[in-house]
Amino acid sequence: MTNWEERFGASMMRTLAPPLAVLVRGYGCWVWDDKGNRYLDFLAGIAVNSLGHAHPAVVAAVSEQVGTLAHVSNYFATPPEIELAERLKQITGAGDPGRVFFCNSGAEANEAAFKLARRNRQNARGDGSRTRILALHNSFHGRTMGSMALTGKPQMREPFEPMPGGVEHIDSTIEALERELDETVAALFVEPVKGEAGVVDLPDGYLERARDLCTRHGVLLIIDEVQTGIGRTGAWFAYQHYGILPDAVTIAKGLGGGVPIGALVTFGAASELLTRGQHGSTFGGNPLVTATANAVLDAIEEENLIANATARGEQLREIIARLHSPLITEVRGRGLLLGIGLAEPVALALSAAALEAGLIINAANESSIRLAPPLIVGDGELEEFERRLAQALAAL
Ligand SMILES: *Cc1c(COP(=O)(O)O)cnc(C)c1O
Repeated sequence: MTNWEERFGASMMRTLAPPLAVLVRGYGCWVWDDKGNRYLDFLAGIAVNSLGHAHPAVVAAVSEQVGTLAHVSNYFATPPEIELAERLKQITGAGDPGRVFFCNSGAEANEAAFKLARRNRQNARGDGSRTRILALHNSFHGRTMGSMALTGKPQMREPFEPMPGGVEHIDSTIEALERELDETVAALFVEPVKGEAGVVDLPDGYLERARDLCTRHGVLLIIDEVQTGIGRTGAWFAYQHYGILPDAVTIAKGLGGGVPIGALVTFGAASELLTRGQHGSTFGGNPLVTATANAVLDAIEEENLIANATARGEQLREIIARLHSPLITEVRGRGLLLGIGLAEPVALALSAAALEAGLIINAANESSIRLAPPLIVGDGELEEFERRLAQALAAL
């Protein structure tokens, strides 16, 4: 038998922790490892596999498009790219004059948004002195230099300082917004639910107040929906629960159903800030990934998966409640992005016990478990989840 773990350890960059398992196959909400063990996947590649594994719509879209036209460069356009841009304008609510920039990941979508923010220089006096960019403590926006500068975790940034300038981190409170937002600020970056922080919600009324104040002071409200977007919280985008629109939204994870794709969508006047030649990406928007994303959006609509995310999310909360575990103190998040708060810092041990019981859940930090199952999850999988999580809790 091949020792994949040993070969991984000898060849992969040390940035990665040793793998939890070596996976070889997936179908629906299930994956199999190299030893033939089967796991119920309640992480979905970190909210990426919105349609689960090997969904026929994704398989067909990738197969057809790779055999037709996979890549052409940005000197040319392709129908799937134009169609996806139009659909993203529609589902985000950007409409006209919204615009879309395609890239390959969440970090790159936030890099594009960072460059957009730098272009919002003019204040009411016209002296071009907007230089501050605000982001939230404990937020996560990616690992490239710009997206890392936005990320509110000092321990992530410090080994790579100096960061691109101008970014300040503030508390996720309405008071901090009221104190900090003024004519010196170019943009405010917000994650509507902080996924990497352990699925942490914003205070009530936060996004509505942020929208008000950003409009009043000419600040771009940039919402990072890389993890929350594409139906995961029970709406196409989490900000839609609050009846507001951002000036820009970044999208990635769930959009491609497993193929790498990211996007920045701009709204209204923000669509005029980046001009010809100011940004680009070789792979961005290629027909292989955009055709696949179109198929993912079709399947979400045809299979009613946004309503499913809401209903299954409620069911999951009920299941967790009826386990009556003294270890579980709260459930956070919305739809199918849920965080389980633990009374003790044992998230790693619990996720390991769950893996033993054939269930993949994620220790987002030492006292939070993150659940992000595929949006296709159904009754059978919820029953399996309950049984396996109960088994894991009992094994602790
Ligand atoms: C995952 C994530 C990113 C980074 O996306 P990558 O594709 O890993 O670059 C950015 N923002 C949020 C909110 C994320 O969850």
